[in-house]
Amino acid sequence: MLDWLNDDQRALRDMAQAFAVKEVEPLAVQIDREEHTPDALIAKAAEVGLFGLYTSADYGGSGADLVSACLVSEEIAKASPAFAGALTVQMVLSPRTVELLGTAEQKQRLLPASASGERVIAYSQSEPAGAANVASHLTKLTPDGNGWRLDGAKLYCTQANAKVVLVMCKTHGRDGKEGYGCIAVDMDRAGVEILPYEHKLGWRGTNTGSINYNNIRIEDDDILGDVLTGGFSHRPANHANVLAHAATSLGCAQGMLDKTLDYVKERRLYGRDMAELQPISYWLAEAHAKLVAGRALLYANARAFDAGAMEPAMGSVCKAWIGDTAFEVCAKLLQMWGGSGIMDATGVNRYMRDAKAKCMAEGASEMHYAIIANQLLHGVGSLVRPAG
Ligand SMILES: Cc1cc2nc3c(=O)[nH]c(=O)nc-3n(C[C@H](O)[C@H](O)[C@H](O)COP(=O)(O)OP(=O)(O)OC[C@H]3O[C@@H](n4cnc5c(N)ncnc54)[C@H](O)[C@@H]3O)c2cc1C
Repeated sequence: MLDWLNDDQRALRDMAQAFAVKEVEPLAVQIDREEHTPDALIAKAAEVGLFGLYTSADYGGSGADLVSACLVSEEIAKASPAFAGALTVQMVLSPRTVELLGTAEQKQRLLPASASGERVIAYSQSEPAGAANVASHLTKLTPDGNGWRLDGAKLYCTQANAKVVLVMCKTHGRDGKEGYGCIAVDMDRAGVEILPYEHKLGWRGTNTGSINYNNIRIEDDDILGDVLTGGFSHRPANHANVLAHAATSLGCAQGMLDKTLDYVKERRLYGRDMAELQPISYWLAEAHAKLVAGRALLYANARAFDAGAMEPAMGSVCKAWIGDTAFEVCAKLLQMWGGSGIMDATGVNRYMRDAKAKCMAEGASEMHYAIIANQLLHGVGSLVRPAG
């Protein structure tokens, strides 16, 4: 499978696989239990170039394609689906948003530091009114003298401890027009209040937090893209990220399958090998078949994306189907571990918990199915239906 990968893509996949086995796997259970990713791991990830992988070479990255980013996300997720989730934000979503919207000066200011791991950039859209319910979002940017002011509250921001957060918000232009913009907010500004969530079901150690913005001073060069449209006009970054995110779901389920195969091969039940029980061997085969299908779906679309030829709503097909399938696979595989899978000591139930978190992050599955339905029924691969 994936025999069409070129040498660069294969080399990056092999590098990520080796990094995951050597550096991520030994810390994965600790990250989940302690809800903290060690700084040393982040530094090592930066050193091997993971954060700058999908950033262009002009801005300190290695300019790899999305297929490569997905391969890396999948490999890292096999060891730690949580760490892989946070990685996709910094490797794909945030830098690509800046590349699509920013001026040369803004890109030079933000991207090399992001690629080197020195300044994490987070991405924040979700609000209490519903993450995708943009029309009801209340966080707003308004003109204030020769600058601007930002007020509002955002939820569920991955890496809420980042140095910079890209805030999608309602905007009021100087001419009175309203829109939805993208603001790069330095988190050390007065008025920023970060409230971390603790004891999450999954994606532990990714510093998820809600963030309040209380009368934050914003300058013109903090605004990325057009003040009235920047919040919408970086769609390719979102599309790339849903594919990279689907790759983490795939890696999550593959990691669980790999560990379950090892367990089943060792476990004896009723005086014989557990694998001889017919339902067990069927479930393993079924899980494998689903992941093979998911991998074919994902990489065909990542390749099409890189060629500028991905069909409408196919990112949502990948995100929703692979995400939901990964959760189903992980839940079924966990069953094979019996009581030992429920107990903390085996360290595998995190895969099912992380798989569920992945059905929510980067858009709930149902939101993506709504996009697919709009494409099928109205020919519009977005949440917004045509009028009439
Ligand atoms: C671990 C984690 C990390 C996250 N990281 C980020 C981040 O970095 N930045 C960020 O902005 N957000 C982030 N999110 C937020 C995430 O995108 C939202 O939780 C998700 O989109 C669902 O939105 P909501 O929580 O507001 O639920 P709601 O919008 O209240 O939706 C509740 C449920 O309604 C259903 N539903 C929602 N919309 C539709 C629809 N259009 N059609 C049909 N059914 C629908 C779904 O079943 C959904 O689960 C993260 C979430 C999690 C869990």
